[in-house]
Amino acid sequence: MKAELIAVGTEILLGEITDTNTPFIARELANLGIDVYFQATVGDNPERLKTTIEIASKRSDLIILSGGLGPTEDDLTKQTVAKALHRKLITDSESMTKIARYFAETKRTMTENNRVQAMYIDGAIPIKNRTGFAVGIFVTQVNGPDFLLLPGPPSELEPMVTEQVLPLLKNTYFSDHILQSRVLRFFGIGESQLTTQLADLIQHQKNPTIAPYAKQNEVTLRLTAWVQTEKEAQSQLADLDNQIQVRVGQYFYGYGEHNSLSHVVADKLRANKITISTSEGFTGGLLAASFANEDSDGKLLMGGQVVPVKNSSNSEAAIISRNDTVRAVQKIKHQLKSDFSIAIAQPSIDVTGTGEHVGSVWMAVIDQENVVTTEKINFSTIRPFVKERMVLNGLSLINK
Ligand code: ATP
Ligand code: MG
Repeated sequence: MKAELIAVGTEILLGEITDTNTPFIARELANLGIDVYFQATVGDNPERLKTTIEIASKRSDLIILSGGLGPTEDDLTKQTVAKALHRKLITDSESMTKIARYFAETKRTMTENNRVQAMYIDGAIPIKNRTGFAVGIFVTQVNGPDFLLLPGPPSELEPMVTEQVLPLLKNTYFSDHILQSRVLRFFGIGESQLTTQLADLIQHQKNPTIAPYAKQNEVTLRLTAWVQTEKEAQSQLADLDNQIQVRVGQYFYGYGEHNSLSHVVADKLRANKITISTSEGFTGGLLAASFANEDSDGKLLMGGQVVPVKNSSNSEAAIISRNDTVRAVQKIKHQLKSDFSIAIAQPSIDVTGTGEHVGSVWMAVIDQENVVTTEKINFSTIRPFVKERMVLNGLSLINK
């Protein structure tokens, strides 16, 4: 199945607004396993919209248009598609009632154009608009491409797609298939490095598909299989998962859409009845806070201290070097009587000629057998997310 996405709107062509609908729809289709072959943008001009639809009809099986379903003069998408298909527009009574009620409640006069928002193409499926008025439209054809028309505002389009369009597409195109996903989470590797190491898998993906998402400080991969049985889906996902683990398994920390490194590490420690304490310089208590969030019954975090930033008066207290950090982690473990401890030092920071900050931070973890592991983490900026990244680096060191 070849899909084509058409963003309708002169303001997009003029660069006045950024088209976010096209990438959003493309991502959702990729997760469904529908391939997008073409993307187009066209202004609010019926002639050029007609030409764009004719070109798309020759090369695509599913044509998705966003924008131009509203009440104003330049909103002509459904009229143009209806004309191209030689079909009439008819009224969706439920949407009409919703619009009429709104105008009655706000004591405003409803115009003829507002009625158009409740109209859809004869023979199509009308799609309710929970956050607006313009009804979405899904036309399937036996001899010719299918059309999906969606409202322009992302606040209307996005919920309509997730709540209604995706189930509708699944039912229409994959009714005999089931869709299963698995989300893999990575820390310590950037998106470009991850996708480079998996380049051939990503390039040849068909089913299951691989969708990388870069988040602040971490990357996730969503694997999606659409096959006939649950067993088949699970075995395909496991197989692909294994191939990925062989290459980048050292950065993998867990599964799931809503998982996190702090959750995974805390879970592991709790499962083994291991308690922890912290001594933090650079991160000022953020690491202890991340354990506290995972410690509802007080069986995990034995306590922590925040070490002041080094200055002339308290240089004694600061921990900076590898040796300081090792001493600090031994001391806090002894004081707070925990099984594990972690110390994150104060960073040593230099300002480069360009005004950027570069530096490094020592970390040390001590375990039940008093074995100390250290690591030095470099950074090239001191923007706030660096501290969050250091917390993740600390968690990652505990996880090793
Ligand atoms: P309305 O009922 O608001 O008129 P519509 O379906 O007619 O909706 P348009 O008139 O094309 O849609 O666009 C309305 C607004 O929605 C635009 O001004 C813009 O803010 C937003 N919008 C439209 N298309 C896109 C897009 N592709 N990406 C992001 N925003 C968009
Ligand atoms: Mg409009």
